Amino acid sequence: MVDRLVNSEANARRINLVEQAFGTSGQSLVQTGRVLVGEGVLTKMCRKGTKPRQFFLFNDVLVYGNIVIAKKKYNKQHIIPLEDVTLTPVDDEGNLRNGWQIKSPFKSFTVYAATATEKTEWMAHINKCVQDLLTKRGKAKSDMEDSPVWVPDKQATHCMHCKKSEFTVLNRRHHCRKCGMVACSNCTSKKWLFPQQSSKPLRICLTCYDQLANAPNAEQEKAAQAPAGQNYDSDSSDDEDDDVPNDAENSDQPTFYENKNHGATKT
Ligand SMILES: [Zn+2]
Ligand SMILES: [Zn+2]
Repeated sequence: MVDRLVNSEANARRINLVEQAFGTSGQSLVQTGRVLVGEGVLTKMCRKGTKPRQFFLFNDVLVYGNIVIAKKKYNKQHIIPLEDVTLTPVDDEGNLRNGWQIKSPFKSFTVYAATATEKTEWMAHINKCVQDLLTKRGKAKSDMEDSPVWVPDKQATHCMHCKKSEFTVLNRRHHCRKCGMVACSNCTSKKWLFPQQSSKPLRICLTCYDQLANAPNAEQEKAAQAPAGQNYDSDSSDDEDDDVPNDAENSDQPTFYENKNHGATKT
């Protein structure tokens, strides 16, 4: 179905609009064979809590960004290749309903749709795109390990590793880039290189460090690790910390283009 949209003018126009809406804050999204499959607002679990984010599902990548002006202007663009994406439904919990995890070696996080129907639609479309992509490329899903889904800051008043250190303005939270837990700086003093997540070594907790360092092929991997203790503080470059107001309405339903175009004129 999606293939029919590949060369359509409507598809090209839509992709151009998305690119324009990100302006200079985003990469070029126009690519041969790329189709915009659907778009909509999802609530994303970030470090500081849930935030509305605009998502664009293409047939090869999932793109999302912060909403500056609804439907017009976005920034902080993220592009996740779909071929290593897996989805896992998340049970409803309080106000957090209709959620699922989007996991990949590059980035993993939880999103929530406005309704159960929208959740089903999003998950089905994303899964279909992943499968089509793997079929087309004749590949199986790679065995790269998924990056962890981060535990939100609020869920930890104390270090989840030593259980002693209490977080304050000065005693900052850090996330282990292997298991996603929130830990104090002492408990995340070790770093490890995860090439899919960053070109620089990232903080990991002492438990994960022990696991990685004692793994059968650890000697090789350790040699590949850059020295720890660099100035680079990966947490401060984190994309989740932003001050975009949390007031964008999540009432708009997502749009999936191929469903609307059953043989009709593509608009
Ligand atoms: Zn600790
Ligand atoms: Zn860990």
